Amino acid sequence: MSRRPRALGLVSGGLDSTLALALMKEQDVEVEAVNFSTGFCFTDHHRAMSSPKHKLRNEALRAGADLAVPVTVIDISQEYFDDVLLRPKHGYGANMNPCLDCRAYMLARAREHMEEIGADFIFTGEVLGQRPKSQFRKALGIVADESGLGDRLLRPLSARLLPPTRPEREGWIDRSKLLGISGRSRKLQMEEAARLGLDLEDIPQPAGGCCFLTDESYARKLKDWLDHQEEPKHDAEAFVLLKVGRHLRLNDEVKVVVGRDEAENRFLASYRRGRWEFWARDFTGPTVLVESARDLQWEEIEKVAAITARYGHGRDEEGVTVCYRVPGGPNELLSTVDERPIEEISVSVSRLEEIEPFRV
Ligand code: SF4
Repeated sequence: MSRRPRALGLVSGGLDSTLALALMKEQDVEVEAVNFSTGFCFTDHHRAMSSPKHKLRNEALRAGADLAVPVTVIDISQEYFDDVLLRPKHGYGANMNPCLDCRAYMLARAREHMEEIGADFIFTGEVLGQRPKSQFRKALGIVADESGLGDRLLRPLSARLLPPTRPEREGWIDRSKLLGISGRSRKLQMEEAARLGLDLEDIPQPAGGCCFLTDESYARKLKDWLDHQEEPKHDAEAFVLLKVGRHLRLNDEVKVVVGRDEAENRFLASYRRGRWEFWARDFTGPTVLVESARDLQWEEIEKVAAITARYGHGRDEEGVTVCYRVPGGPNELLSTVDERPIEEISVSVSRLEEIEPFRV
């Protein structure tokens, strides 16, 4: 090759993909990276929550900035939902995570990007045997084949345990500088990251996976949402709301979302338009939203008010007055001020065991 080889990395910004990026920067290749946003990534949520506990940043961009590598972020959420999440050819992992299909899909998209920018091969932070569904030896082969990358797919962290890929055989990169890591422990990655001067305190190290689809509670809520759609369609707002709060389903048509802390209450408040909103009048407590395509019946209003009272500081009182706003009315979605009238209802506080059966 008359020019320096070009490598494109698939990065999330977690420890493994950041380390892969750093390893490739050590080689005599031009490095670029791509990050795909599925709408289910942890980093998206942390950004959206705007909580002081979380750093508000895209970790892939952070990794690129740390290592002076240009990163392109591509939103694939719509196609990902239709083509991968709804009907994964290889099925789901322990929760709603279609990891094998997800990897193959992202790498196929990365291959298209590779061709567009004239890169020669792709690398990832995958580690042999780290994840049961997508990173065992056979799965790595399936992903390489289904993405159309074949031996132009390099896994620098496990390369010494895998057959040499084209970039290694052609001498574009030096195989002896790649690693032979396998399994779930992150010890070797941390040692190598320290050697390369990466700031381990600043790099997220997700243990269970890189997105909410691996999270048991999120998966339950997503499944419930899917089960109550006539024809499931990508809905970014719904997927974000599934990440927040306690979800209680009163019946097929009515779902209640209860904020669990101040950050969630603030977050939910920004989604109140078009939804019923409940809060205790005289006590601090959660923001409660209700999703329903029809008007609530009086018993349902009472039930939601009693739930609202249960999770607030008035929970030990005999009765609590709860305010609520009904969705709709002129300009509801256009006005910057919520002009909906506030109604009130006095209720007895729900007992926890009465709420439990509704929990999604
Ligand atoms: S954890 Fe999520 S993003 Fe990662 S491979 Fe699995 S489905 Fe894809």
